[in-house]
Amino acid sequence: NTFHELGLGERMLKSLESVGYESPTPIQAELIPRAVSGNDCIGQAHTGTGKTAAFVIPILERIDHDSNDLQALVLSPTRELSEQVANEARRLAVNHECNPALLVGGKPIRNQLNALQKGASIAIGTPGRVIDLIRRGALDLSKLRVVVLDEADRMLDIGFRPDIERILRSCPTERQTLLLSATLPPPVERLARRYMIDPEMFDL
Ligand code: AMP
Repeated sequence: NTFHELGLGERMLKSLESVGYESPTPIQAELIPRAVSGNDCIGQAHTGTGKTAAFVIPILERIDHDSNDLQALVLSPTRELSEQVANEARRLAVNHECNPALLVGGKPIRNQLNALQKGASIAIGTPGRVIDLIRRGALDLSKLRVVVLDEADRMLDIGFRPDIERILRSCPTERQTLLLSATLPPPVERLARRYMIDPEMFDL
């Protein structure tokens, strides 16, 4: 049960060593190989299970690090959770020279517009601010390869369903979609049925 067995590249393995992750958690062992191969996946997992790294690692493996195009978008319910995801992404990306853009409300939009203008291959944010940036023409979703819906149940509870659907409809159809949720009530299942293709499911 090692990260080496999950088929990760040398740079990723080095980063994992430098952050001190010795072996994958159960959700990482399930999700990483399937997500790296490009499949849509649904992971039922709570915070504290290592679920953030479980989707950040496949993103870092699947994007083209020689390009400045936005290739991965993570939607998360709150500013605090988005910041946690961005911190984990920065830690795991030390050897990939990519700096994720944090797109959350309650912070000056100017800095976020600047970050996007400079070119960010990964963006992490709340659905409301992401919609705002799309409306301003600041967020080009046409090169997206991976979209992550983190804590999908909480995002729907907060009332983000219309924003999430609008964002997903603006994404390329050939993208990969990963959905993480502590619970899978009918509204989450409906969202998955509408916007995901043959998702593999993990209940951990
Ligand atoms: P999360 O469930 O994503 O909020 O992660 C919970 C905590 O576990 C975070 O502090 C991570 O840095 C840490 N973590 C994630 N994956 C591993 C791993 N494979 N080994 C050790 N710690 C980990």
